[in-house]
Amino acid sequence: MSELAYPYEAPASQALFDRAAAVTPGGVNSPVRAFRAVGGTPRFMVSGTGPYLTDADGREYVDLVCSWGPMILGHSHPEVIAAVQDAVSRGTSFGTPGEGEVALAEEMVARVAPLEQVRLVSSGTEATMSAIRLARGFTQRTKVIKFAGCYHGHVDSLLAAAGSGVATFALPDTPGVTGAQAGDTIVLPYNDLDAVREAFGAHPGEVACVITEASPGNMGVVPPAEGFNQGLKDLCAENGALYISDEVMTGFRTSRSGWFGVDGVVPDLMTFGKVMGGGFPAAAFGGRADVMAHLAPAGPVYQAGTLSGNPVATAAGLAQLRLLDDAAYAKVDAVSKEIQGLVTGALSKEGVAHTLQNASNMFSVFFTDRPVRNYEDARTQESFRFTAFFHSLLADGVYLPPSSFESWFVSTAHDERAVQKIADALPAAARAAAEATA
Ligand SMILES: *Cc1c(COP(=O)(O)O)cnc(C)c1O
Repeated sequence: MSELAYPYEAPASQALFDRAAAVTPGGVNSPVRAFRAVGGTPRFMVSGTGPYLTDADGREYVDLVCSWGPMILGHSHPEVIAAVQDAVSRGTSFGTPGEGEVALAEEMVARVAPLEQVRLVSSGTEATMSAIRLARGFTQRTKVIKFAGCYHGHVDSLLAAAGSGVATFALPDTPGVTGAQAGDTIVLPYNDLDAVREAFGAHPGEVACVITEASPGNMGVVPPAEGFNQGLKDLCAENGALYISDEVMTGFRTSRSGWFGVDGVVPDLMTFGKVMGGGFPAAAFGGRADVMAHLAPAGPVYQAGTLSGNPVATAAGLAQLRLLDDAAYAKVDAVSKEIQGLVTGALSKEGVAHTLQNASNMFSVFFTDRPVRNYEDARTQESFRFTAFFHSLLADGVYLPPSSFESWFVSTAHDERAVQKIADALPAAARAAAEATA
């Protein structure tokens, strides 16, 4: 067993992490879970109820990650669990069409006006990958514009963020992605319409699509500047490219119809995941019916999936969406606002320079006193203060995302007791942030 780096570390989690590291690279199945940005032992969770998670050592945490967004009703919501149990009792996968996937697609289409047709997949990565293939197939063009700091899953061509100038092609961000795969991706600074205009000018007739997070949450929360998304949409329309709004994180979270419900900008294609799966692997892409008609078997652009539209996943997603009415969003928005106020109050009291940014009920704290408009800005924050803040909260039973470049998430289940636990833990965490040194 490795030495415990923090006095309050959890021995049962550490033992599991050691076992995991022997059979899984880095001991985790998704990198951020390994706590590399903050250090210490990742907590292995054994159960979740409402706003709480319980780890292998039996400690309870108020959960401000919510599985990175999906658990907007809290953990183990009885009606979602009942829907899952009902579905499971009838079998887990048929490899045929079924009514559940139709009902989920109908619910999504009813909620999001620009979504005329959807195709279900199993992860957000698959959704963005497939949307880009479809955009390329539809436009018969090759290049894709994306923004630095926007994450669209681990699609080869989208794991490129290092482009420096408008005319510079992106270099791959990771070994294993070839120059050819990244070379058709143009990476631009977020919130910079001039850069997008220039890129279209430099590549006339070559850009298949612009893909952007509807409101970015993967560099911390950095909402689009007033008019940015509409500007993207207009530039795409003028240049014969498709505008793809990635709502994997914001979809059915930031409002009942996602970020579209907030800014009303109509995309050509959209991608979804997280909330729509109710804690199961379900995701989707969709949009204009004339574009979706190019997808197999209706059209020539191939796309498929053994578990796509899985009956258990679609039952969970549908049950969750049906519970997400206006009252539910009002509740999530209110508790989010309350926690935002507590966080900024505690940090201000200790004189910690910070900027709290939100996009409806998604929010995050940057340890800088300047507004963060793009990835460059986000990277100027004093992340060492976040590390101290994070570990103090963890020790006091509050589970934050283990990185300062992630959104925090709350749920309808975050009640007074949960909020009080956060309020009680914040003063010490703010002091730790104030005293932290690089
Ligand atoms: C989470 C996320 C993805 C990837 O979804 P996975 O299900 O993890 O593959 C894509 N886009 C955005 C905006 C996300 O937040």
